[in-house]
Order: sequence, then C-alpha cells, then structure tokens
Amino acid sequence: MAEKIKMTAPVVEMDGDEMTRILWKMIKDILLVPYIDLKTEYYDLGLEQRNATNDQVTIDSANAAKKYGVAVKCATITANAQRVEEYKLKEMWKSPNVTIRAILDGTVFRAPIIAKGINPYVPTWVKPITIARHAYGDVYKNVEIKLKDGEKAELLVTDKDGNIKKLLVHDFAGTGGIIQAQHNTEQSIASFAHSCFKFAVDTKQDLWFGAKDTISKTYDHRFKDIFADIYDEYKAEFKEAGINYYYMLIDDAVARVMRSEGGYIWACKNYDGDVMSDMVATAFGSLGMMTSVLVSPDGAYEYEAAHGTVTRHYYNHLKGQETSTNSVATIFAWTGALKKRGELDGLAELSAFAENLERATIRTIENGVMTNDLYSLSSLSVKKKVNTEDFIREIVKNLKN
Ligand code: NAP
Ligand code: MG
Repeated sequence: MAEKIKMTAPVVEMDGDEMTRILWKMIKDILLVPYIDLKTEYYDLGLEQRNATNDQVTIDSANAAKKYGVAVKCATITANAQRVEEYKLKEMWKSPNVTIRAILDGTVFRAPIIAKGINPYVPTWVKPITIARHAYGDVYKNVEIKLKDGEKAELLVTDKDGNIKKLLVHDFAGTGGIIQAQHNTEQSIASFAHSCFKFAVDTKQDLWFGAKDTISKTYDHRFKDIFADIYDEYKAEFKEAGINYYYMLIDDAVARVMRSEGGYIWACKNYDGDVMSDMVATAFGSLGMMTSVLVSPDGAYEYEAAHGTVTRHYYNHLKGQETSTNSVATIFAWTGALKKRGELDGLAELSAFAENLERATIRTIENGVMTNDLYSLSSLSVKKKVNTEDFIREIVKNLKN
C-alpha cells in the first residue's frame, strides 16, 4: 500500500444525524482514511450530543471553523415538536445551520453536480446554476405576533438621543391578525455582495441578483443600491474575467432563469435562496447531487450537502431494510473541504486526491452504477441500481483505475 497523503492543518468535522450520519462513516472508512492521514477536529452535531451540551457543541464547532478556515458538515436534524418528543429534548434547539451561519456570516453557494445521463427537467439547462443565498436576517431573524381584534400595531424606532419615530403597521379593528418585523444590516448585505462578486470572479461566471424593489421601496431597494455601490469595486475584475453583473426584479429573474442555459451565479435574498435552491436542485435531478458551501467574509469555508438527513431511508435502515441513499453530495462536501485545505496549505497531493475522488464518483454514475434516486432519472441504456454501501465501494474501483 502506498503511503498515505499527509495533512498539516485539520478540517473541522461536524458529524450529524440519521442516514447521513451512516453515509458519513462509510465515506470516511471506505474513501478517505485508506488514502489520507486524515486530520480533523471532530464535533458531534448529532441531536443527542447537541441536547447533552445545551447546543454548546454547535457554537464550538462554528468557532473552530472560524479558527481553522475549513469545515465539513454532515446534515443534521432541525428540531421540531415531533423531534422534541422523539429525542426527549430539553428544548427545541435551533437549527445548527442557522447558528453556524449567524457566527460565520457569509454566503451559501449551492451548485448541482452534473453527470452524463442525468438530464435536468428543464432541457435548456446544460450548465450548472449556482445559487448564492444570503445567510442572514429577513424572515429567519424575525419577530412576529398574533393580534386580537381591536389591537393596533405600530413600528417604533428610538434613536441614540431617545427620539422616537412611529409608523402604523395596521389597525386591527373588526378582525384580529398577524404581524411580522424583519431586519437586515448594512454590514451583512455588504458582505453578501462582496462574497458574490468575489465568487463570480473566482469561478468566472456572470452574477445575477433579483429582489422586489418596486414593492419594497426601502428594504429591497437598499439591497439593490448596496450591490450597485460594491459592484463599482469589482468592475475592472469583471471586465478582465469577461463576466457581467445584472440586477433584475425577482419575477424577471425567475422568468429568465427558466429559459437560460445555466452557467451563472444567481444571488438571492435569504428566503428566495431557501426556496429557489430546492427548485433548482430538484430540476437538476436529485437533492443528492446538490453541493453547498458557506463562504464567510473573513475567508472561512464550510462545505456540506444541500439535502437533509434522509429520515425516510434511515427508518427503513433501522428496520433492517436495504437502502439506496445517494452519497454524492456528502462526498463532494468532503472533497470540497480537502481541496480547500490543500489549496490553503500548499498540499498539491491532497487537492489532486480530492479531484480524483470527484472524477471517480462521476465516472461511477456515467458507467451506469448508481443509487435508486438516479436510477429512475438516468437516460443511460445500461444501468444498475445498487445499495448505499455498494455505490461507495464501486467508486473505489474507479479510483484505483
Ligand atoms: P431530506 O432529508 O432532504 O429528504 C427528503 C427526500 O428527498 C428523501 O426522503 C428522499 O426522497 C430525497 N433525498 C434527499 N436526499 C437524498 C439522498 N442523498 N439520496 C436519495 N434521496 C434523497 O429532507 P427532509 O426529509 O425534509 O428532512 C429530514 C431531516 O433533515 C429533517 O429533520 C430536517 O430538519 C433535516 N434537514 C437538514 C438539513 C441540513 O442539515 N442542511 C437540510 C434540510 C433538512 P425519497 O424518500 O422519495 O427517496
Ligand atoms: Mg430550503
């Protein structure tokens, strides 16, 4: 056996839940540890451990990501009422992704992995569409309240000297209702814009940004203006890279995306990014083929799969039934992290291994061996459906070739 590839700095490893926790171990045992002297700083973000540590483990893992600059995260359960019951939780802990994003700030970029035979539902989409989701604020950091008939809702702002500004939200006379207040910050919007312009230059792709500034004349309009100001700083680099920045109304963006051929970054406000990334991922094939990376303004990278913990498959697994869960996005989370570690630490061998593993994974699917989700999509004439572990073992064969 050849000597294992050495690492100098660790990757921050954030373990997770359910089926993806099983994939996680298989990927490490079968695809990584035999070839790499894997150096990680391990944090168990599985729900049991989050509950035992009052979620401190999530905060610690995010701070470690900040310190070491590269993290890889397994999908995790977001607690809800049913999970509180199932896991006997002390509290309904916040989503780890929300906690990590709040600590690292930055932007999430999601891109589909493309393989021959897996044809997007939108036939014109021949290149990946990378979605950049603003990872702070709006409805994800809102306050909301239910109002009774006869109550009046007002927005109140107090300045440093105690002066008050008041805006009427709604007078609920005759019927109760609901209200919600959202916010964002100049700093977060600016760092979102910077991440997007930088990533566009890095990957030499056009940048599109859509919001609803015609209706939201102050809130969304501020996003548009900040992007326009910051674009001035990148104009020269955009020109040199031969790429463009386009602002459009979100409705217009959706219409243009549908008839585009792909190959650009689509910057979205937080909620648009949440929703549109699921649409784009599904249209490109399987959620199991969507990668995700959080890029912080101070240069920390957190890689993960875009999908969740695949609960339905996990329950089948617990019943002793065979599963056929797609591990590709989780593999690419690992290769993304290892490539970045290699790039930052000057370890060409490590980056080359990660690229090899990506090619071997795609080759496996293009050779006709795949999990159930892809099997039903693949247009290849000769194809074989395999179980979760056999797919990962098949990659090893292609890795050795
Ligand atoms: P999900 O885990 O993404 O799975 C939804 C369905 O999509 C699956 O049942 C499966 O469809 C298909 N699927 C997703 N990933 C797949 C893969 N790798 N291989 C094959 N099929 C795949 O979403 P969910 O069931 O709504 O959520 C499950 C848990 O994950 C929840 O507790 C949620 O909070 C959490 N979650 C975590 C993250 C994260 O950590 N980033 C993101 C989203 C959700 P079939 O059943 O039809 O085979
Ligand atoms: Mg979503």
